[in-house]
Amino acid sequence: MVNIDWKNLGFKYMDTACHIEYVWRDGAWDSGVLVKEPYLKMHIGATCLHYGQEAFEGLKAFRCQDGVVRVFRPADNARRMFNTARRTCMAQVPEAMFVDAVKRVVKANEDYIPPYGTGGSLYIRPLLIGTGAQIGVAPAKEYTFLVLVMPAGEYYKGGLKPVKSIIIDEYDRAAPLGMGDVKVGGNYAASLYAHEQAKRAGYPVELYLDAKTHSFIEEFATSNFIGIKPDGTYVTPDSPSILPSMTNDTLRQLAHDFGMKVETRPVPFEELPTFSEVAACGTAVVVTPVYEITRGATVITLGSPDRCGPVVQKLFDAVQDIQYGRKPDVHGWCVPID
Ligand SMILES: *Cc1c(COP(=O)(O)O)cnc(C)c1O
Repeated sequence: MVNIDWKNLGFKYMDTACHIEYVWRDGAWDSGVLVKEPYLKMHIGATCLHYGQEAFEGLKAFRCQDGVVRVFRPADNARRMFNTARRTCMAQVPEAMFVDAVKRVVKANEDYIPPYGTGGSLYIRPLLIGTGAQIGVAPAKEYTFLVLVMPAGEYYKGGLKPVKSIIIDEYDRAAPLGMGDVKVGGNYAASLYAHEQAKRAGYPVELYLDAKTHSFIEEFATSNFIGIKPDGTYVTPDSPSILPSMTNDTLRQLAHDFGMKVETRPVPFEELPTFSEVAACGTAVVVTPVYEITRGATVITLGSPDRCGPVVQKLFDAVQDIQYGRKPDVHGWCVPID
């Protein structure tokens, strides 16, 4: 058994028992191997290093109340990575292989899955990279698909903590016909500089507007935007340069199940003050309530810094109840590891 202080785990890299690694060569994937060493030996001409041929995913496994370990919506992440691979001209990972890779690596790292009741989970990071040498610009002839895992602690000890956000008009994240709708490292490289600026100014998350007109809400750097109207309507922006978040999809379904109205449509910046609750959503933390958004001299108040709004709290609880197996999984989202 490993010796981990489950109660004080954060969200940071930790070596585990192994990761799983597959190679695509001559038009086919191999059957994958579990590798103990957390290092890759790679050709210095690999396309992922020079031209950003890279796709990643993020999902989680939970040790449930009944003791069974379940992965949340792995086939949906597989489909998203399939789209990212197509957009970046990489060898695509078939859905069955992706889900099997996730199951194999989770099972091999059973000791690293936080016990039920600690609020923790096993964070799963699939990665697809061009590893063939290629200096003339063209897709690589060899790819590596790997899945690494790390135990993640409960993010919100003592309840959801609202944060403030900022819109930085000096930088964009994704162009309208660019790569904003696929999960590539390049989108993160594009947002790091503004992210560091925002953090230094005291804003943990920055919000992006559409790159072309700077008049519509897009998403936060690493998470989708959701807004709740005073009448309980769930609103989330529709744009070709937003990453389709699995968490947002899950929350929309749950909102619908609760009888709330759900709208996916363009959201003009001017609409911000009309929301009674705003939150960022993504796999790592599910939701981050946002109580204030600043743009230049304008400061928009959306809630209290002391507590999460009731609708976002209710949606958060509903997701966690399903993930930890406390409520029936009526949508078939949870895949057991046998
Ligand atoms: C991964 C990601 C999200 C969140 O997606 P989930 O599937 O909910 O984790 C949101 N925005 C961006 C830009 C992302 O890369």
